[in-house]
Amino acid sequence: EVALGARAYRIEIGAGLLARSGELIAPLLPRPRVAVITDETVADRHLDALRDGLATAGVSMEALALPPGEATKNWTDLGRTVDWLLDRKVERDDLVVALGGGVIGDLAGFAAAILRRGVGFVQIPTTLLAQVDSAVGGKTGVNARQGKNLIGAFHQPRLVLADIDALDTLPRRQFLSGYAEVVKYGLLGDPDFFDWLEAEGPALAAGDKAARIRAVRRSCEMKAEIVARDETEQGDRALLNLGHTFGHALESATGYSDRLLHGEGVSIGCALAFELSARLGLCAQETPSRVAAHFAAMGMRASLADIPGDLPDADGLLALMAQDKKVKAGALTFILARGVGEAFVTRDVPREALSSLLTDALAAR
Ligand code: NAD
Ligand code: ZN
Repeated sequence: EVALGARAYRIEIGAGLLARSGELIAPLLPRPRVAVITDETVADRHLDALRDGLATAGVSMEALALPPGEATKNWTDLGRTVDWLLDRKVERDDLVVALGGGVIGDLAGFAAAILRRGVGFVQIPTTLLAQVDSAVGGKTGVNARQGKNLIGAFHQPRLVLADIDALDTLPRRQFLSGYAEVVKYGLLGDPDFFDWLEAEGPALAAGDKAARIRAVRRSCEMKAEIVARDETEQGDRALLNLGHTFGHALESATGYSDRLLHGEGVSIGCALAFELSARLGLCAQETPSRVAAHFAAMGMRASLADIPGDLPDADGLLALMAQDKKVKAGALTFILARGVGEAFVTRDVPREALSSLLTDALAAR
């Protein structure tokens, strides 16, 4: 459960949840119908299962399938979506269902936030990244020409259904990108979970359902707990950005393209954050190699050398970091760590330390 008082909601995690979607969603509905927003790839693979699952409880659905990919998270497709929902006469008490990855969850959640000043929505995340991160917590929105996620609203879902079976069709690269966020939770606040991931990560990636359920569950517990404490990111919620200040700069440097997926930026960013923590004498010198070793053992990206093509120089990367949405009064927010599972938020990282870290990391490419 995400404990947010009147806006509290449950996260259901398990196998076969699409088949049970009708019984899980029907109690929330005044009328037995929902409007589903999805993307074409997810629709091909999972929309029939959702339709059948809803039908078992007599719930009917209509679906809008948008093109897959980050480029869809824009103002125009948002307008199209709102228009489609209004054409279907979606009312205040109806529910919008987001079936897909973070792109669909963010866009459909934002459409629900602004439609009739806010209608309810259900998240059915189908990527690992969405199951452990974006579907929980209520951040919704789209990208602007000026930057990523610059238009949006906090709008909590009424229910989250994380069907582990949906991950079976996810390409391995996408799976590992989401797994970076799983590792992030261990690194930021749960050393036992990180130990467990070191042991079980390979089985989990190979398809072990029990391990996948446990990893999604622990990740959601940690996110739910942090969000309940700090819904609108005045403080602790920033811990969830471990690895993200570096990661966002790298995503921006590679144009949010196939060169670097979000989670790939996060794993490289986590490795850099631990390296920086060691250089500043905050954590033990061997901790960064332990972190990087787990990413490497999983076949994930762990350093700047794993990014194909040209990158800006250290000053260029620093300039991109300074553009991050989280910059307040000119000071960059960093998440550093005193050890595995001991992250903290800080605003005072000397520019020279950052500059030499990035210069060395670039030289090692
Ligand atoms: P995505 O939604 O683009 O999904 C990745 C790809 O996988 C897409 O091509 C999609 O069609 C495909 N796909 C989805 N489910 C599938 C399945 N089960 N089988 C086969 N293919 C499938 O990307 P994502 O990584 O899920 O999410 C990234 C987005 O999430 C970014 O826009 C990011 O800004 C956002 N995000 C939001 C939050 C938040 O708190 N709201 C947090 C983290 C990330
Ligand atoms: Zn992330």
